[in-house]
Amino acid sequence: MGKNGLSKKRLEAIKMILTARQQVIQEDLVQAKKGLLGECLAEPNHSKTHIADSNGGPSIYQARVTNLEKCLWKIDEAFENLENGSYGICKNCGDPISSERLKIVPFTQSHVECKL
Ligand SMILES: [Zn+2]
Repeated sequence: MGKNGLSKKRLEAIKMILTARQQVIQEDLVQAKKGLLGECLAEPNHSKTHIADSNGGPSIYQARVTNLEKCLWKIDEAFENLENGSYGICKNCGDPISSERLKIVPFTQSHVECKL
């Protein structure tokens, strides 16, 4: 057992959850990138309207790609943390994160209130 108090069995289960989540996110990312590509290829008039609609901010697809890539990084880090025994430990305060929260966000690295 590491300092996070998780049994080997539990760690294996978490790895499976993370792997499954990783696959879903990778598929979503492919779709989002396709959408983004479609947007870039759209005729200029169309994209102007689109930008105006979204107040000039990043498009829905761009935001989605960025968000999904962040999730994948976090999952990668979670795998590393599983290996080095720091999985489930809040990076901000060093206390264990509740298993309820880890169930909802298996790749989280902090408490809700410590959110980095
Ligand atoms: Zn914390």
